Amino acid sequence: MDLYSGYINKLIEELAGLPGIGSKSAQRLAFHIINMPKSRVERLAGVIVDAKENVRYCKECYTLTDQDICPVCSSVNRDHGTIMVVENTRDLAAYEKTGKYKGVYHVLHGAISPMIGIGPGDIKLKELMQRLEGNVDEVIIATNSSLEGETTAMYISKLIKPTGIRVTRIASGVPVGGDLEYIDEVTLLRALEGRVEL
Ligand code: ZN
Repeated sequence: MDLYSGYINKLIEELAGLPGIGSKSAQRLAFHIINMPKSRVERLAGVIVDAKENVRYCKECYTLTDQDICPVCSSVNRDHGTIMVVENTRDLAAYEKTGKYKGVYHVLHGAISPMIGIGPGDIKLKELMQRLEGNVDEVIIATNSSLEGETTAMYISKLIKPTGIRVTRIASGVPVGGDLEYIDEVTLLRALEGRVEL
């Protein structure tokens, strides 16, 4: 039985397909959107399309940006010989918020997870190895301390070791299974300062 209009059902379906949105939240959002003034709905739809059309990967670190080279990679005030490897752009933003990290980043866009079929070829790992052909002194692996994050860290360190480049892992001050983006700045800095050799 169709309780709602087919249009609302379609909207609920699309929203429910987004991460972290269950069917109840999707319904609540759908009705909220329907009740919004038309101008606001158009603005919302517009910014979604604009973001999708204008945001791309930085050609160096693969973070999401609207420029060819992101502001961090194009800055002369950053230490381009130190690369911090993070799982996603949100993690990069968390470290940038501390204002204390002076190196650059490499964004993997995921972590290795054999359980759900994500292998080394599915994240930006080949791209990282290409960057290491330049002048790099240290790679700091700052993937999450989840099983996937640890697996990825081990895998990367094994790949880099033979190159002779220093590989470190952020300290486990970061709670196990904790997503970097939810961790406060002090904890992030402590994890960075207490990094260990791999
Ligand atoms: Zn960049």
